Amino acid sequence: MRVDVLGVGFDSLTPEQAVEEGMRLLHAPGAHYVVTPNPEIVEACRGDGAVMDAVNGADLVLADGIGVIYGAKILGTPLPGRVTGISFAQGLMERMAESGETLFLLGAKPGYAQQAAENLVRQYPGLRIVGTNDGYFKDDAPIVEKIRASGAQAVFVCLGAPKQELWMVKNGPATGAHLLVGLGGCLDVFSGNVKRAPVLFQKLGMEWFYRLCREPSRIGRMMKLPLFLIHAAGERGKRK
Ligand code: UDP
Repeated sequence: MRVDVLGVGFDSLTPEQAVEEGMRLLHAPGAHYVVTPNPEIVEACRGDGAVMDAVNGADLVLADGIGVIYGAKILGTPLPGRVTGISFAQGLMERMAESGETLFLLGAKPGYAQQAAENLVRQYPGLRIVGTNDGYFKDDAPIVEKIRASGAQAVFVCLGAPKQELWMVKNGPATGAHLLVGLGGCLDVFSGNVKRAPVLFQKLGMEWFYRLCREPSRIGRMMKLPLFLIHAAGERGKRK
């Protein structure tokens, strides 16, 4: 079931159900992709039809960010809760480490994906990372070929939004992978170059605030959140 939040259809799933569905897609024939939009991306979708189509065309649309949960509540169609990209990725890697599927890490600054791979293999013994590449390449074709040649069944695509969503739509099938997941800044975290907010901030839904304090230059991007809530309230008024 999908819940419409300002035009973006979010899958109404708990974190565990999302991982279960991700594993099902990983084993299903064909190429599938997952997106994890936050309010900033919903706002971007509203301003760009191609981005909206890329997001709504995903096989799984997960509510990353407390703002989306508030938005859904304001609209009178609540979601079960957040499914952050990071927790989804962690759940998948845990399962993949057990069952032996292969993973490719794409994105972030040069060296980060390799660093992330080293950390993740230590953290998830048995996880098979078969290739990495940074996210600052010019041509798609050699990267697509590199993924295909690696035989990866899953790819974490961490190029930032909406670049990664458009990239997955355009290149997903040619990579030969069954599951591509758009994960924004996750490789910055997995590589140890960016710290995730302390658990207390995560639990309170204040991760965005922690991030803002560490990177004040994000204020412009974060102003999209109140805008998003205002739009949700306006939409609620129209639905009544
Ligand atoms: N990035 C990339 N290629 C690009 C632009 C960005 O690989 O052309 C990476 C960037 O290094 C960072 C991630 O994409 O690791 C975006 O991180 P951000 O925190 O902005 O993403 P969000 O999760 O907020 O979408």
